[in-house]
Amino acid sequence: MRATVIGAGSAGLAVAAAFKRKGIAVEVLDRADRIGAAWHGRYDRLHLHTPKSHSSLPGLPMPRDWPRYLPRDQVAEYLEGYARHFAIRPRLGVSVQRVLRGRSGWRIETDTGEEGADIVVCATGLSGRPHRPDWPGLGTFRGPVTHTADYRNPSSVAGQRVLVVGFGNSGGEIALELSEAGRQVHLAVRRPVNVLPRDIFGVPVYRLQLLQRLLGPRAADRVAAPLMRLVLGDLSRIGLARPEKGPATAVAEDQRIPLLDIGTLGRIRSGDIALRPGIARLDGPRVTFADGSTDEYDALVLATGFRPDLSAIFGGVPGALMPDGRPARSGAPGPVAGLYFCGYRATAMGQFRTNAAEARAIAADAASGVASVTLDRAVV
Ligand SMILES: Cc1cc2nc3c(=O)[nH]c(=O)nc-3n(C[C@H](O)[C@H](O)[C@H](O)COP(=O)(O)OP(=O)(O)OC[C@H]3O[C@@H](n4cnc5c(N)ncnc54)[C@H](O)[C@@H]3O)c2cc1C
Repeated sequence: MRATVIGAGSAGLAVAAAFKRKGIAVEVLDRADRIGAAWHGRYDRLHLHTPKSHSSLPGLPMPRDWPRYLPRDQVAEYLEGYARHFAIRPRLGVSVQRVLRGRSGWRIETDTGEEGADIVVCATGLSGRPHRPDWPGLGTFRGPVTHTADYRNPSSVAGQRVLVVGFGNSGGEIALELSEAGRQVHLAVRRPVNVLPRDIFGVPVYRLQLLQRLLGPRAADRVAAPLMRLVLGDLSRIGLARPEKGPATAVAEDQRIPLLDIGTLGRIRSGDIALRPGIARLDGPRVTFADGSTDEYDALVLATGFRPDLSAIFGGVPGALMPDGRPARSGAPGPVAGLYFCGYRATAMGQFRTNAAEARAIAADAASGVASVTLDRAVV
């Protein structure tokens, strides 16, 4: 049995380690030239928002003397160390173009040739394809329009008046950084957002997951709500509407992860960052918002997220993907035997932890298949 894992990020490495533990021969392919490339390529200020206790991959806890919230490059260092620890040697600089059913097993077409495998695990991540909305008149905006995927630090964005579009974790942090750098920052928030403090009285908010595990998401949200109001105050007073669903329910039901605040709310309260509604249209430097108000900007930062689209690779495998190009299943046996996807599901646990859990489940399922094949052969 030979397995091929596409992607050497946290998901791919966790799958490879889990396969090795089950005795399944595994090869990992990554189009980048180094392990952890996705992390090296993200903005300079980025730290994990999940504490290291929630971010280690199976079999290798992060060292005690590392900071609670790892900086970007240390995440990449951890991934490199993880690969070394489990003797995983990804073939780097190999981009998978298409995966098709072969005569027996899978045919994997890469930019360097073609190969075969009995099992394929796709772990190419959620952030491969930046989502860039196309508002009417966007083409008339003459200043820089920078997606967070290309943002490194305030010097990435020229101009004094900056509109950050989107209030997710990247948008919140980049708005904060630009404001601290002395820019006049507005933040366009299209719909209500769940906000949680990253820490409550020095304790990571992730510890509250325990509540969710015990009570389920809806009850956990009800129990945690008074504490959140106490810590964050009434957010409607600063113009942030409360979503219908609480943070745990929104993740569980809609895959919408909450914003973990590391200081942006304080800047909104002090008036250093101004909130605006979603964008309706642009006309040169002038932006018209959904409520009809207008303002002029020198630059736009699009914190509008990513849309994984795997149809180029798996379009030829009926049943593997949903119509929007996302996998039909992640972290579980899917509709197509021998093909798994890892790391495409948002949960309240943080992506690292979810990826690790999915990796274990995939390896267990693959190993049970291997066992039955071996048994069949033995019987024959
Ligand atoms: C800004 C930001 C902050 C985040 N912070 C946290 C956090 O605090 N805690 C947390 O738990 N999660 C966090 N996440 C979410 C998640 O943990 C990371 O995105 C993580 O990198 C996902 O790991 P992955 O292995 O699924 O994907 P990636 O790390 O993106 O790895 C995918 C790999 O696949 C390779 N690849 C892609 N396409 C191909 C192809 N066709 N052929 C070969 N190789 C290919 C890529 O080169 C890459 O190395 C954050 C994400 C972002 C964007």
